[in-house]
Amino acid sequence: MTLTPEQQAEIDELRATPRPTLRAVSEGMEGHLYKANPVLDHGFVRVIDYMGDDAAICQAARVSYGRGTKAVSNDEGLIRYLMRHWHSTPFEMCEVKLHVKLPVFVARQWIRHRTANVNEYSARYSILDREFYIPEPEKLAAQSVTNNQGRGEALGPEEGARVLEWLKADAARAYDHYEAMIGQDGQQGLARELARMNLPANIYTQWYWKVDLHNLFHFLRLRADAHAQYEIRVYAEEICRLVKDWVPHAYAAFEDYRLGGATLSGKALECLRRMLAGEAVTQETSGMSKGEWREFQAVLG
Ligand SMILES: Cc1cc2nc3c(=O)[nH]c(=O)nc-3n(C[C@H](O)[C@H](O)[C@H](O)COP(=O)(O)OP(=O)(O)OC[C@H]3O[C@@H](n4cnc5c(N)ncnc54)[C@H](O)[C@@H]3O)c2cc1C
Repeated sequence: MTLTPEQQAEIDELRATPRPTLRAVSEGMEGHLYKANPVLDHGFVRVIDYMGDDAAICQAARVSYGRGTKAVSNDEGLIRYLMRHWHSTPFEMCEVKLHVKLPVFVARQWIRHRTANVNEYSARYSILDREFYIPEPEKLAAQSVTNNQGRGEALGPEEGARVLEWLKADAARAYDHYEAMIGQDGQQGLARELARMNLPANIYTQWYWKVDLHNLFHFLRLRADAHAQYEIRVYAEEICRLVKDWVPHAYAAFEDYRLGGATLSGKALECLRRMLAGEAVTQETSGMSKGEWREFQAVLG
């Protein structure tokens, strides 16, 4: 991750000037405010602002006048109840605004989550930095043979080295041409909005991303999942760490019911009941397809 000394100084200055407030404050989140948490080779996630804490979720659920907290254990139980019963709107009362630096191909997956507010760095107005995501050699893997949407075994050292060399050389060549096209030395210089079109999808972009906690949990459930692509999963995992410190009870309930939990179909539930009654159920007698059965077996471990 590269922060310039000026960017770091701005962050340090913000952290050095605390102000008293009457608003709900999460001590865990205050510790993270403004700091850049590195992700991938040049990326980061920073908390720019947040609203609410665990108590705010309960306050909204009870529609209280004051903080509304009778006891911390009551709040924890209420939050678990709300999560268990998909009572989602109290979680929408908490919001977070993040500054994220991420490769463009990761941003394409991320932007599909429509329930957030986004403002992206303008490559029409500004010149993009010469920063490209180059995977660690052990992350270079072959197409998976079991999952069309994923990667399988790591590439051998020779093939891996060749791929890395191409990734670096292509990025450097494309950026050299980008610079040459926008340059105004002895030429008019192509507009930035056009010159950017030959840049590869592993170049880094940045955005501010604001989302409420309910929709953030939805994002995290999909993108912190083992099936999500590694390059977006590492961002989701970093955000999980921030959310855990921000709203510890809500995060614990999310981890238990959503990340660690599973949803069973009616057929799967019926099979489970038959198994518990001592019957040896097979895929053929389950009424489930091969894919469903495989996933059911994975849930059962
Ligand atoms: C493992 C994985 C593989 C994927 N593969 C592909 C792929 O191959 N191709 C592809 O195109 N996408 C793919 N996606 C993206 C996926 O289909 C979703 O677009 C993405 O995960 C965002 O989910 P979402 O719409 O639920 O989230 P959000 O946009 O955040 O929406 C959250 C929820 O709000 C509601 N909502 C939001 N907007 C609307 C609306 N306009 N109308 C009705 N309800 C709405 C829905 O209930 C939705 O679930 C993949 C995602 C994952 C996690």
